[in-house]
Amino acid sequence: MWKILVNDGMESEGVLALQSLGFKVDCNNIPQNELNEKLPFYDGIIVRSATKVRTELIDACPDLKFIARGGVGMDNIDVEYARQKGIEVINTPAASSRSVAELAMAHMLCCSRGLHISNRELQNKDSFASLKKQFASLCEIKSKTLFLIGFGRIGKELAKMAIGSEMKVVVYDPFISNPVVDFEFNGNQLSVSLPQVELADGFSIADYISIHTPFVGQPILTKSEFEQMKQGVIIINTSRGENINESDLLDAIEAGKVMFAGLDVYQDEPNISSNIISHRLISKSPHIGASTQEAQARIALELVEKIDNYYNSK
Ligand code: NAD
Repeated sequence: MWKILVNDGMESEGVLALQSLGFKVDCNNIPQNELNEKLPFYDGIIVRSATKVRTELIDACPDLKFIARGGVGMDNIDVEYARQKGIEVINTPAASSRSVAELAMAHMLCCSRGLHISNRELQNKDSFASLKKQFASLCEIKSKTLFLIGFGRIGKELAKMAIGSEMKVVVYDPFISNPVVDFEFNGNQLSVSLPQVELADGFSIADYISIHTPFVGQPILTKSEFEQMKQGVIIINTSRGENINESDLLDAIEAGKVMFAGLDVYQDEPNISSNIISHRLISKSPHIGASTQEAQARIALELVEKIDNYYNSK
């Protein structure tokens, strides 16, 4: 049976499942600079984002059968090079979608009522009175328009929650012809079609804008896009930090165009700009979209299934 190195940790149920299938599993966390020497003794490696599997390491391991990434992004793996060498590269793109969508919803609700500010500033009866006054006229999300940029796995999950909250949801995704959300409850199924809009139209009607695309090579939201938006819009980003020009976002907040922003991802992680970190009107989380017990368990079990299928196909 194959010997597998789990180098960035894995939920224990995934490790147990691999062992029960007969694989030999080491959860050793070998430092990056020792991998060239030690990885050749394994048939496969499971990583998250910390361990880098670059061409040099791939060349050092001519018998490596697979590289598995628990999660979505594979920036830490030279995927094409590994595949050219006949190494299977596995990831788990769907396992964390619900968790990321829930975090986007949490930022939307938090921003809607200024919770990120009250949590920090409600300290005594004077702040109680002044915060109560400041936040007396914020809004419900019901009946507001949510503009989703990108309608893949996470966008769809957020659309489900937003529709359940009676929001109007519109979509921009040039690679999807008919955006549909499927609900299933008590054995009944319901499909809801959503309107597709052009970017400019979405900007002009949205109360909330949430980005769910990969990094598309340049920021999606810059000064000119902020200028097209409604006054007081709320911006949510759980996708990739580079999708928003942060300096233009800060200007749009200062100008009152953007009322609040909710961010899980940043242009330069973990060296987040101090202007972003300290900004009162930005609700922040430290890139934890996929970091739930449920997502990590689904990631581990999906990896086990894919590794086992690959082993049995050889
Ligand atoms: P997905 O591949 O399922 O969906 C992405 C969608 O974006 C696709 O439907 C695609 O057609 C669309 N798209 C591509 N280019 C576009 C463009 N220029 N304009 C509009 N739409 C475009 O991906 P997903 O699983 O939904 O993930 C979305 C994002 O979330 C990715 O950037 C991913 O890295 C990020 N993510 C973040 C976390 C986190 O912890 N915050 C966790 C997982 C994923």
